[in-house]
Amino acid sequence: MHTVLELSASSPWHSQRPASLPVLQSEEDKVNQQSPSAQPGEVDLESIKAAVRTILKAVGEDPDRDGLKETPRRVAKMYAEIFEGLHLDPARHLQVSFAEEYDELVMVRDIPFTSMCEHHLLPFTGVAHVGYIPQGHVTGLSKLARVVEEIARRPQVQERMTHKIAELIETELQTTGVGVIIQAEHSCMSIRGIKKLGSSTITSAFRGTLKTSLSSRNEFLSMIDTRSRG
Ligand SMILES: [Zn+2]
Repeated sequence: MHTVLELSASSPWHSQRPASLPVLQSEEDKVNQQSPSAQPGEVDLESIKAAVRTILKAVGEDPDRDGLKETPRRVAKMYAEIFEGLHLDPARHLQVSFAEEYDELVMVRDIPFTSMCEHHLLPFTGVAHVGYIPQGHVTGLSKLARVVEEIARRPQVQERMTHKIAELIETELQTTGVGVIIQAEHSCMSIRGIKKLGSSTITSAFRGTLKTSLSSRNEFLSMIDTRSRG
């Protein structure tokens, strides 16, 4: 039977970051001063501005009226921020680990994130539960949250996001098992199309013993009562 070290909503980093990690800067800072690992010039702000003007015109708006004048610029900066994960390597967060004999399941649950559905460019928002079984080394717990945060910042589908997080942890950490569960509400389902407000989508990815051993996986799942999490 594993004992489970569980970090939940009461952990310190969690309480400080209701919507986004403290590493996030203001929109202005983000554009003027790219984070150190980002290559400069990868987001073409001028092209985004021109495209947003085109969209405004195409839907029958006047992009030059007062309220909309600055909108293309704001949207360009917003896209640079919410898609910055395209230019960052989340693996770097996992490249420092600490020797530790602990070999039971470590889980960080309820990591909040917002990502963008690649089919509609609308946000999907939810929480990720990430666990792994260390093998001689552990990573800093906040690093798992950094990985989720950074992988979220790109256009994608929830299924791929879930697998990408699991794959990265499996590749970068010495581990015998990895489990990732993501629960999110997709605004492309709630504000358009079938307009199902409040429905959530749950995806999972398991690797190693968490995939092959039913009892390990059940233990992982028992730590996450998805029914109580809207
Ligand atoms: Zn969508």
